[in-house]
Amino acid sequence: MSETKEIGLELLKKIAQNASEINDTDRAVLSAQLGRDPRGLVGIGARCACGAPAVTITFPRLPDGSPFPTLFYLSLPSLVKEISRIESSGGMTPFNERLKDDAELAAAHERAHFSYVERRDLLEDIPEIAGKSAGGMPDRVKCLHALAGYALAVGEGVCPVGDEALAMAGWDPTVCRCKDIFEED
Ligand SMILES: [Zn+2]
Repeated sequence: MSETKEIGLELLKKIAQNASEINDTDRAVLSAQLGRDPRGLVGIGARCACGAPAVTITFPRLPDGSPFPTLFYLSLPSLVKEISRIESSGGMTPFNERLKDDAELAAAHERAHFSYVERRDLLEDIPEIAGKSAGGMPDRVKCLHALAGYALAVGEGVCPVGDEALAMAGWDPTVCRCKDIFEED
């Protein structure tokens, strides 16, 4: 695939209801957010109140040919930092304990997994990663960034663990904290 694969808004919206097309400044902003150029970028999954990308949508095969299962990834530094804080303070353990004990949550997490794969397959079904999702789904929580990014892009009610992680992080779509983070350290 070329680096500038065109994915129309109609398809992006099927992949994630909060998705939007890449604009002229997104690549530069993402490079600053990620500390590297975004690879295989096909859309923005969600945005900060200021318009900066908050979640990337990546084509499931990178320009170098390698398969890439992580369709949605959190890029917004303020939110990445909050989710990292939750992870490093042991925030994943209670989720994993609940997934063992709470059949309803476990079933919802598994449904989130299948929905993730279906959404990614709308771009292309890549055999090497067939049936694989991200973040520990279908039965574990291994990366809250992946689950929070997923939840932010697709909207509430699809990935309950990601929804909870966003709430724990104090995510508010009407508040921009981009300036704070770039002025800190
Ligand atoms: Zn912002």
